[in-house]
Amino acid sequence: FLSDTSAKVFVAGHRGLVGSAIHRKLLALGFTNLLVCTHAELDLTRQADVEAFFAAERPRYVIVAAAKVGGIHANSTYPADFIAVNLQIQTNIIDAALRCADGAVRKLLFLGSSCIYPKLAPQPIPESALLSGPLEPTNEWYAVAKIAGIKMCQAYRIQHGLDAISAMPTNLYGPHDNFHPENSHVLPALIRRFHKAKVSCANEVVVWGTGSPLREFLHVDDLADAVVFLMDRYSGLEHVNVGSGKEVTIKELAEMVKEVVGFEGELVWDNTKPDGTPRKLMDSSMLAGMGWEAKIPLREGLADTYKWYVENVVDH
Ligand code: GDP
Repeated sequence: FLSDTSAKVFVAGHRGLVGSAIHRKLLALGFTNLLVCTHAELDLTRQADVEAFFAAERPRYVIVAAAKVGGIHANSTYPADFIAVNLQIQTNIIDAALRCADGAVRKLLFLGSSCIYPKLAPQPIPESALLSGPLEPTNEWYAVAKIAGIKMCQAYRIQHGLDAISAMPTNLYGPHDNFHPENSHVLPALIRRFHKAKVSCANEVVVWGTGSPLREFLHVDDLADAVVFLMDRYSGLEHVNVGSGKEVTIKELAEMVKEVVGFEGELVWDNTKPDGTPRKLMDSSMLAGMGWEAKIPLREGLADTYKWYVENVVDH
């Protein structure tokens, strides 16, 4: 893959957090034939449109970073969207890559998330924990769709020989994240809330839950690096975890965001909001065994993300 820089690479979802990081990475690596489409140009939930697109473009590599994503609140408020839209997008792309590109697709990488694993999975969570117990109810709709995507890649490899692999990143953050006040994930939500509190000289910032859940975070540029690494080196049936191996409590995270943003007031914990799963740390030893590791420390990545937020999102 890395030596095939003139090949046509389709990055689905290139405007999102993950897709935009992969797009930047491929450009930096010298790829000259990147194929991208905005939502207005191609609605990935429409099967006929996706089929026509693959038949016309015949990409050699496909990276599926398009998905409907959101935090704990969005998942419980829009369950139908989270299951249906994700199933549609991934099914349309994976199937069209096989059937409509006339044999052009050499490799496809499907991206999922750590929430595919059971709520009470052993920690750190190995790839083998998939489907070994009940899911965390707050995001099971999204998780069921992503599990179906992994299984679809495996089935297409077994039955049709399609070189489809899956990567499961831990909690991601970075430029182009969704900073919506209620529907975003914890890290962008806190960046926004602390920033708003700082500029309005508020005395306190409300943080959801108890602060005790543990989460692992990975900067999206590290994920993009791992995706390219896997596209180049991995062609197995098993999905691959991609984590940083470092975890923090939500309380530690909130303190770190507070410092990076420069807010000087108090933290107030809203225990009426759900904590979600108590701990979520990936076992990324399979990927480490192939020779890959994350490079961006959380504090550095937070500062970089806050800078991007101030320059690109903030409405003050
Ligand atoms: P999860 O990792 O799938 O549970 O998704 P989130 O990123 O939405 O939440 C992670 C943890 O952060 C949960 O324990 C939340 O209760 C907590 N949290 C604290 N403040 C916030 C907030 O403002 N927004 C979100 N989304 N989560 C928050």
